[in-house]
Amino acid sequence: MTHNSTNETLLEVNDLSVFFHMREGEDFFAIRNLSLSIARGESLGVVGESGSGKSLTSAAIMGLLPANAEVSGSIRFLGQELIGAKESDLRELRGKRLAVIAQDALTALNPVHTVGKQIAEAISVHDNNLSKSELRSRAVDLLDLVGISQPETRVDNFPHEFSGGMRQRALIAMSVANEPDLIIADEPTTALDVTVQAQILDVLNRIQDRTSSSLLLITHDLGVIAGFADRVAVMYSGDVIEEGGVDSVFYETAHPYTRGLLGSLPRLDARNRSEPLYRIPGFQPSPAQRPEGCSFHPRCSIAVAGKCDTEIPIVHRAGPEHVARCHLVKDQEAN
Ligand code: SF4
Repeated sequence: MTHNSTNETLLEVNDLSVFFHMREGEDFFAIRNLSLSIARGESLGVVGESGSGKSLTSAAIMGLLPANAEVSGSIRFLGQELIGAKESDLRELRGKRLAVIAQDALTALNPVHTVGKQIAEAISVHDNNLSKSELRSRAVDLLDLVGISQPETRVDNFPHEFSGGMRQRALIAMSVANEPDLIIADEPTTALDVTVQAQILDVLNRIQDRTSSSLLLITHDLGVIAGFADRVAVMYSGDVIEEGGVDSVFYETAHPYTRGLLGSLPRLDARNRSEPLYRIPGFQPSPAQRPEGCSFHPRCSIAVAGKCDTEIPIVHRAGPEHVARCHLVKDQEAN
């Protein structure tokens, strides 16, 4: 899916590492040397199993890491360095230029206020010159934008009067109330059934086309990425192990882990549908117990003894704008 992306880099993460200091002394790198970038209007999908560091990446971008986390590297957003920025500057960015759509719409909405009041509050945090009736009419427009029918009536409903899918839409309306430059959607569809998931992704698409926001979509579901993102970064145990255009990563997959993930997706065109889906053997190690060398080596069917279990792979160019962190990927000539 191609959105109205431009060449302007909106977010550039370079060599980001997040190190956790633990009380028992077992300190570890939860994210290691991560680099990625997003152009204006572009959608980047970050995919990984739970514990791969994908949600921590968004917390680092938002400046919302726990106190025992030490961050190094660089996160530049709209040309401004976020690592080490003042909390007041980060607060100004959050909710206005940088917005997060939370995972759990039920707990993120306040049950004692109407949906319209909560959307109006989200708007007035950054624009308090609007009258009550202007705020209400903006809230109605936003509910309309996210596909809530009869928004003039629904604006006065409480969260418990909305279905799960509608609550998620209301939350999206709150997040995009100030037309942010970057929307971070962290597993926005996990708790929803498949039909509602597709509707929510449609809503995100529509917003992006209308506002030219960029989107960082965090998910464990490669199927969601396939229909939605322009580019994809695959995370494993705190590292980005493959990154590139969606078509390139899906059809010219370079990393054995991504190949395994794709092999475990059900396919409509499968010849024998009764055949069990492929499952990568073993489990992803927690970044606190990352093995030596390539962190995927204990599960990799083509691991090379004496190399993969001792040397951390560097990033290789698997194609134009397509990179993979694997010893067996041969560098392609840059065009
Ligand atoms: Fe497999 Fe080795 Fe590549 Fe890691 S570096 S993915 S173990 S082949």
